[in-house]
Amino acid sequence: MRRLVAGTGWKMNIGAADAARYATDLLRRLAKLDCTAIDMFVLPPFTSLHAAAAAFGESPVATGGQNMHWEESGGWTGEISAPMLVEAGCRYVELAHSERLQHFGETYELVRRKVDLALRSSLTPIICLGETALEKREGRADEVLAAQLLAALAGQPDARVPDVILAYEPRWAIGTAQAASPEYVAARHRALRDILRQHRGPDAAERTRLIYGGSVDPENGKDIISIADVDGLFVGRAAWKAEGFAKIIELVVAAAQGKSASLTAATA
Ligand code: PEP
Repeated sequence: MRRLVAGTGWKMNIGAADAARYATDLLRRLAKLDCTAIDMFVLPPFTSLHAAAAAFGESPVATGGQNMHWEESGGWTGEISAPMLVEAGCRYVELAHSERLQHFGETYELVRRKVDLALRSSLTPIICLGETALEKREGRADEVLAAQLLAALAGQPDARVPDVILAYEPRWAIGTAQAASPEYVAARHRALRDILRQHRGPDAAERTRLIYGGSVDPENGKDIISIADVDGLFVGRAAWKAEGFAKIIELVVAAAQGKSASLTAATA
């Protein structure tokens, strides 16, 4: 069974002092919850990484970067490398967020190089995939997802594929008033698993975690996380306060219990 995931990206919000306060608040709220069955991460801005990692300490809440360069070091003014993220305590790195594609000209060819270096640096890449509103209207969502997925993982052996987390984040649902409907999310996640099965084999399809992001909140998150092919929630605005992220984590913990109970019943 795939371990469910609850994660949040802070974008360009929450400086170092607030990051430490957020961590203390979140850990206090999680103290009575058994989170051992799920994975949790926060992705602070670079300058908050050390403070967040120190404040989360040995707790099960891991930290990660929101981006990284594809080279380990060199003349790349303003950039951050994978070894620097590791040194700052990161276990994860987010790649291909739609804002990086849209505003910084990133391509999936660059993402492929970053995925490779992240894996070689023992960071778990969280690779964002998602269609635009136009591609959705044209009925091309699954075709776009397949192209992004295959490009990002090109050159990786099938056995490495489950070491990444794939985040389905429809670009039209990020930072908006409404998440994708549960039916729509279920169809895309099913398509993603089929693409994995067809191109990377049954083991990669079965073991790779597919998480959903795009206007998730504690209300709509419950239906989305209960979808069979959804292995986690990836949250922006609704988790920028510790209270909001704690509510999302509660949903994911409950879903992990439900999914494991139904798996046990199915195999009994
Ligand atoms: C995001 O930016 O990846 C995201 C999911 O944001 P929000 O939840 O605010 O839509």
